Amino acid sequence: MTPYDVIVIGGGAAGMMAAITAKRRRASVLVCEKMPKLGKKLLITGAGRCNLLNETLDPSFYNSGGQVLVASVLGQFGKDAMLQFFKELGLAVYADETGRIFPVTNQAASVLKVLEMELERLKIVVDLGCEIQSVRPVKNGFEVRARSGEAETGRKIILCAGGKSYPALGADGNGYTLAAAFGHKILEPVPSTVALVVKDPWCHALQGQKVRVSVTSGIQGKEIRTATGELLFTQYGLSGTAILDVSDEISVAVASREPQDLRQRGRGVLPDSQWHAAHDGLVHLESGTRRRHLRSGLGEREGLGHLAAFRSMKRWSR
Ligand SMILES: Cc1cc2nc3c(=O)[nH]c(=O)nc-3n(C[C@H](O)[C@H](O)[C@H](O)COP(=O)(O)OP(=O)(O)OC[C@H]3O[C@@H](n4cnc5c(N)ncnc54)[C@H](O)[C@@H]3O)c2cc1C
Repeated sequence: MTPYDVIVIGGGAAGMMAAITAKRRRASVLVCEKMPKLGKKLLITGAGRCNLLNETLDPSFYNSGGQVLVASVLGQFGKDAMLQFFKELGLAVYADETGRIFPVTNQAASVLKVLEMELERLKIVVDLGCEIQSVRPVKNGFEVRARSGEAETGRKIILCAGGKSYPALGADGNGYTLAAAFGHKILEPVPSTVALVVKDPWCHALQGQKVRVSVTSGIQGKEIRTATGELLFTQYGLSGTAILDVSDEISVAVASREPQDLRQRGRGVLPDSQWHAAHDGLVHLESGTRRRHLRSGLGEREGLGHLAAFRSMKRWSR
């Protein structure tokens, strides 16, 4: 059996892009996707609209320890290259007022469709329902073995099995196991870009309200990160782009403590958060005092004077 030049494990956004790129460079390519369809997770991105990229792409926007790697990737395939890539596939896009770029259809399905059409045009072999369980080095390449017992060999393997953010859509973290089998060191993953659960019921009272704010996160009295964007009150806590942007360090801090420890320290996870309303007076939490008010646009409500932002955060959610 002739080995493939490239076997791509995972048919999400990354796997499809990798397969298309390899095939355009004349490699023979096999994509193994464990779900019955490609790009299941891609369909839910950007609340179903798929936020493809941003008008201002810069490595500093990535909350990653690997800034050099990010810069290298964006240097090779940055905003213009990506826009050109999708333009050639026939996808029309637009930027919203904050610079986020979406397909004009506002449907993530359009992004998936053009990628699938390109896979088809390039006659890339796609094996659906094929969950790779092991990869082992063999002469001149690697053998990948599926749960069904079937095996294929490839000269190169591209592992695009995603993270563990959405098991129901395939992203269940098994890619880490495959990577570890190769001797890669896996840092314990923690949720990132997540909404925050707040114990106090005041968020519930404001459920559905959305405001534009600057949020500063703090951990044990130290200011960590400030982000400007939307803050959305939800049934369980706080969400919106500003909250998602400041959630990473909080998630790491929460994950690194024992549950008992967490409860004690959780009270002070964000003791000095300052929220400044973009629209004057819409939301105002006074830092350093015991008086915290929520005013004007939302109205002053009974009990809101006791807003204790994040004070009782006890866990995080996806
Ligand atoms: C709610 C939500 C909204 C998001 N919105 C955006 C957004 O608007 N814009 C954005 O850029 N990003 C967004 N993201 C992040 C987005 O999901 C990623 O950018 C993108 O999906 C990552 O693609 P991926 O191919 O790396 O992983 P995935 O999309 O997770 O694809 C991995 C694929 O590998 C398959 N797989 C896993 N293990 C195996 C195996 N052993 N064998 C075979 N196949 C396997 C899985 O079934 C899956 O199809 C969002 C994420 C979430 C959770």
